[in-house]
Amino acid sequence: MSQTTIEMVGVNKWFGDFHVLKDIDLTVAAGERVVICGPSGSGKSTVVRCINRLERHQSGLIRVDGIELTDDDRTVAAIRSEVGMVFQQFNLFPHLTVLENLVLGPMKARGLSRTDAEARARRYLDRVRIPEQADKRPAQLSGGQQQRVAIARSLCMEPKVMLFDEPTSALDPEMISEVLDVMVGLAEDGMTMIVVTHEMGFARKVADKMVFMDAGEIVETGPPEAFFANPGSDRCRAFLGRIL
Ligand code: ADP
Ligand code: MG
Repeated sequence: MSQTTIEMVGVNKWFGDFHVLKDIDLTVAAGERVVICGPSGSGKSTVVRCINRLERHQSGLIRVDGIELTDDDRTVAAIRSEVGMVFQQFNLFPHLTVLENLVLGPMKARGLSRTDAEARARRYLDRVRIPEQADKRPAQLSGGQQQRVAIARSLCMEPKVMLFDEPTSALDPEMISEVLDVMVGLAEDGMTMIVVTHEMGFARKVADKMVFMDAGEIVETGPPEAFFANPGSDRCRAFLGRIL
């Protein structure tokens, strides 16, 4: 029996009068890789942002590694410390070197010494295949390299689960695969992941479970073979027809 890392049950959220998430049920087991796709505006980002309280859900239950997400700041902090997040924009500190970007979190939030934090940072720079970029500033790197730094920065916090929100959609086409390759490597190493992406080649390779969202609902979910071969809903079939 595998452990449940993320559990969302009947999650609803409104932005004012706009019902953005409608009864979202989603479970992610430890080591499982879930890929979420769906049209722009369907609520994909809001789902992942609710998991680490970048957005607040209004009803239903969200549990991460057994901790229920409530308004209590301590539970929010506890959950954030287990969840790594990578966005479309890299959000690196521009005035700091790559290495400094990576040691900050572990020193401040995890209490690591500089020596230990640097050792860890170099280990994860190796993992994302840019050990030679440690002393550069973000602006000296390509977009693909910057996104790999952002992934390494999350990994330096040694999270239990990684959330990726369209991590390659701001990249020039020739840089997409270098970032996806790193993510495939993470998946192969057993990282628990939720990935919002339209990169369906990546999804076929790593997803244990596909989720299709439309208009704030999870319309369809299932293993990738069935999902791609025989989508159960017209909305999902139409969407896949547009992007494949
Ligand atoms: P997706 O990631 O699937 O493109 P989002 O989760 O970003 O969708 O957004 C879902 C819907 O919620 C969109 O219609 C978007 O305009 C709206 N929305 C997102 N954030 C806010 C916000 N802070 N205030 C009001 N509406 C929002
Ligand atoms: Mg989005």
